Amino acid sequence: MSLDGTYDDGNIFAKILRGEAPAARVFEDDHVLAFMDVFPQARGHTLVIPKHSTARNLLDEEPRVLSALILGVQRVSRAVRAALNPDGLMVSQFNGAPAGQTVYHLHFHIVPRWEGEALGRHGAGGMADPAVLKALAEQIAAKIS
Ligand code: 5GP
Repeated sequence: MSLDGTYDDGNIFAKILRGEAPAARVFEDDHVLAFMDVFPQARGHTLVIPKHSTARNLLDEEPRVLSALILGVQRVSRAVRAALNPDGLMVSQFNGAPAGQTVYHLHFHIVPRWEGEALGRHGAGGMADPAVLKALAEQIAAKIS
């Protein structure tokens, strides 16, 4: 998939938004939804997506939606930090398959990092235990402020 294309509302994040697919939900407001990545690159890997959007990537998004989205990313990043006490936090976002994008609904990754712990490979890790993700989601949700 290139940078160009039409938004497909059958993508997995659109299904999660509509409640048609399960997710370990962390936080939502009028603008954004945050949930745990099911193939985490590190413990606490969280995704933040716009709720009212048909943008496939960053380049497609309206400034108004993007503003609310990045504020959501910051808010959830602070909660991830407070909940898990990482040494660092990687915030990433991929546009187009050659850049690593696999789901075509705009999203940001929040990946906690710890000294001496290698980063899992993007899109190549195993599926996490749903019970573990639920517990992490609750831990992070408790620190949203
Ligand atoms: P991208 O590769 O597009 O930047 O990121 C998509 C992310 O969605 C990947 O990190 C992948 O692990 C995650 N992902 C793929 N399918 C699902 C799913 O069904 N549920 C959740 N929670 N995450 C998913």
